[in-house]
Amino acid sequence: MTISSSSWQRRIRRAQELAQQHPFAAEILEFYIHVARFQEGLYQKLGTILQSPAGAIGGDLNGVELQELSSRFGSFLSLAEDQGPQHLSKLSRELNARGQDFWAELLNGVWTAHDVSDAHGFLALAFLQPYAELLRARVSPPPNLHTYAVCPFCGRRPGVGVLRPQGEGAARSLVCCFCQNEWQFRRLVCPGCGEENDQKLPVFRASDFDHIRVECCDACNTYIKTVDLTRDGRAEPVVDELSSAPLDLWAQGRGYAKLQRNLMGL
Ligand SMILES: [Zn+2]
Repeated sequence: MTISSSSWQRRIRRAQELAQQHPFAAEILEFYIHVARFQEGLYQKLGTILQSPAGAIGGDLNGVELQELSSRFGSFLSLAEDQGPQHLSKLSRELNARGQDFWAELLNGVWTAHDVSDAHGFLALAFLQPYAELLRARVSPPPNLHTYAVCPFCGRRPGVGVLRPQGEGAARSLVCCFCQNEWQFRRLVCPGCGEENDQKLPVFRASDFDHIRVECCDACNTYIKTVDLTRDGRAEPVVDELSSAPLDLWAQGRGYAKLQRNLMGL
């Protein structure tokens, strides 16, 4: 578990660095740092308490899982109330008043749904994320099927793309927004609809974010941001994605919808 636990440390360090560089993203990154510290602790606790065998994320959470998770959700809500942006803080306070039975239902609903769109759901998703990552880490090797536009482990859409140096060039992969699985994916294909005509797949960059590509599709009008590790090898894709919100505004202003919102609901 120590290997994956250090991955939270890397994300936290990167968020601290980017919060200094991008004042506009400081508030959300500082909140993210609190969330990531909580997630790291939860990951470690659940790793010893819930020794379920490896398997895909499919059906409902069982009674033991629901008990362990819902009994900890209140402290996550308190953290979001204290540290989150105003709207999340208010929402967390309301949710905190609903009590554990309500939380258990919410958590199980989000666990089994592949699509979450409301703010309650994103809070639940951010809380459950370490457990999804834990289950995925128990599968070896993690599924890595290059034809899948959704996560081969948990079935959710990718939250960010990655270009990793390979030979003279770069190989593209996609990272699951939930279980953090990373799988290879063909370079010139839209993960939203499978479009392969490169005329319909414009890629944009902005000078402020030289290592982030905004990959759009004119067939399904979606976009995904891809973090180019050949340009910045220190980037942490999930954190760099979070810190580049101006690119989302830019893409959305041109009529593209984000393929999958991140765990902050952005
Ligand atoms: Zn996944």
